[in-house]
Amino acid sequence: MNNIPKIEINELNDLIVQCQKPLIITHYNPDGDAMGSSLAFYHYLIKKGKDPIIVTPNDYPDFLHWLPGNDKVIVYKRNCGTVLNAIKDADAIFALDFNALDRTEGLEKYLEEASAKKVIMDHHPEPGNFADIVISDIQYSSTAELVYHVIESLNDTGFIDKDIAECIYTGIMTDTGSFNYNSSNPYTYFVVSKLIDLKINKDKIYWNIYDNYSVDRMRLLGYCLYKKMEVFPEYNTAIISITKEEQRDFNFAPGDSEGFVNYALSIKGMRFTAIFIEKEKQVKISFRSKGDFATNKFAEDHFNGGGHKNASGGHSTESLELTLKKFRELLHNYKKELNNAL
Ligand code: 5GP
Ligand code: MN
Repeated sequence: MNNIPKIEINELNDLIVQCQKPLIITHYNPDGDAMGSSLAFYHYLIKKGKDPIIVTPNDYPDFLHWLPGNDKVIVYKRNCGTVLNAIKDADAIFALDFNALDRTEGLEKYLEEASAKKVIMDHHPEPGNFADIVISDIQYSSTAELVYHVIESLNDTGFIDKDIAECIYTGIMTDTGSFNYNSSNPYTYFVVSKLIDLKINKDKIYWNIYDNYSVDRMRLLGYCLYKKMEVFPEYNTAIISITKEEQRDFNFAPGDSEGFVNYALSIKGMRFTAIFIEKEKQVKISFRSKGDFATNKFAEDHFNGGGHKNASGGHSTESLELTLKKFRELLHNYKKELNNAL
């Protein structure tokens, strides 16, 4: 693993020492890595004698609520005034696990206007230019792994306790699909070995995340695979879509469709999968691929999105039906790429 440039580490160190009102923020629909990395950094700042505020733009799945420090998280959607004041008052803002302010959906303007020094800690390609300190590298499996490296580079691994270790492990485990993808760098396993030394219960963390679903979610998964999956063998592609009505039928809760898109990718021969979820004013899309097919480029070019090569997302403001039509038609243009991806 490359060292984090000394200049960034020194600037970060100065900021941590000087700041009085640090604020940590995740992207919209925070996942295991967003929450794990942000809460790990939150606990670290406390160890450094700070009193940080931790904010998410909206609610996140129940299966992340066991994370140490969960009760300290302020959700913007439910506490708008408090969060806007905190952003205005902050003297240091740490943006974790995202590369562009529009990923906060609704807080972009306030974060842009904030007078605080801003820091990006992230592992997505193309970090935005909104921050004073950018610590970003796609080599990391997860932002949580990067947070470990940041703490290590600040010579503070002695501060990493079991709580911090559990948060970091959660981010690494979820962003690698339990060490399936994004996990070919030896440093990932070095970090994991250090976390296990701290006596985290890694099996329990797995159960908390992956064996903690509602009955409705499991039935929705069955329904989607049986009734809603379209397979296009000629394009090595499969998709799933969920309408608003279906979400009502299955008492849809945040995070319920997490992982569905990966089931489609586990069909023999599949290289590219997508899930389309109809929301109030848009269709939210997740893309996954195996091998060379760059889903982030596809998301950026056609669906206002981005992300990693093999895992990205985007959205469409057209109807679900038109969005699906557009996607199906686009597949023709990518036939060669999809057939040769691996
Ligand atoms: P998911 O499909 O799990 O929501 O997201 C997969 C990856 O794509 C994550 O790394 C996430 O940050 C990124 N991503 C998801 N939606 C968007 C989007 O609308 N815009 C961008 N730029 N990235 C996204
Ligand atoms: Mn991540």
